Amino acid sequence: MGVILGALEAKGLLVSDGAWGTMLQAKGMTSDDCPEEWNLSHAEDVQAVASAYAEAGSDIILTNTFGGSLLKLAKMGHGEKVVDYNRAGAANSLAAAGDAIVAGSVGPTGEFIEPLGEMTAAEMEAVFSEQIGAMLDAGLRAICVETMSAIEEAACAVRAAKHLDATVDVITTFTFNASPKGFKTMMGVGPEQVVATMGEAGADVLGSNCGNGIEQMVDIAKAFREHTDMPLLIHANAGVPELIGGKTVFRQSPEDMAARVGELVAAGANIVGGCCGTTPMHISAMKAAIADLENS
Ligand SMILES: [Zn+2]
Repeated sequence: MGVILGALEAKGLLVSDGAWGTMLQAKGMTSDDCPEEWNLSHAEDVQAVASAYAEAGSDIILTNTFGGSLLKLAKMGHGEKVVDYNRAGAANSLAAAGDAIVAGSVGPTGEFIEPLGEMTAAEMEAVFSEQIGAMLDAGLRAICVETMSAIEEAACAVRAAKHLDATVDVITTFTFNASPKGFKTMMGVGPEQVVATMGEAGADVLGSNCGNGIEQMVDIAKAFREHTDMPLLIHANAGVPELIGGKTVFRQSPEDMAARVGELVAAGANIVGGCCGTTPMHISAMKAAIADLENS
């Protein structure tokens, strides 16, 4: 049994972390910066994010490696740095996480597998293998493939991790929008298809991150539970985005978000954390709400 499944068995419910981009922007990162480059140039800032989540009570902490694939880094002129940035990202979170499990963040590449795009599945898997391999070499025992939309791309990432080390736990989360046909990703993938395809690819934990606040995530968790008993991770945004002064902001308070955690757990979530706009304060409020659930 891997580290995350083991922790779930021991503790029942787990709390993961909140947003990274929101936190790093508060430390001065701009849209011109390559976020993964910060793992080397601003290692202390990156570690401070991980330690803030550790102090807030996160059982699982991610890494600042969301855009760390060759395909993403090459677009920013950092294509030769995949191994350096991902190793450093893993090391930064490990250095600051204390007893928390570190899961390496892997986001979409921005490219598609043929016939939609020009990549073969084997090429896509090799891209993920390079990124994930660097993080496993740095000592990680879990990977979080997140914000996915295309099912075949996500399957390549899961297979890459499992082919490198079958004992590594792999979380895979998709970003859904509500539609008349239920919750679908930008590529038209629903929870039922995620369950079927990701289960076969070898994922250990499924779920959803980003795109929705916790109210919608309750319904997404229920939709998953119609098709699977697998552990579910949910990372909701801090409410719906508002445009303020030309900037997109998420303003749901930690208390408002925490007030919905019981509903989310009742709907079937086993691991709860946050996405855009969430902070260590949101995580500690959700941690307290989960402790109340466990004591009630
Ligand atoms: Zn997000």
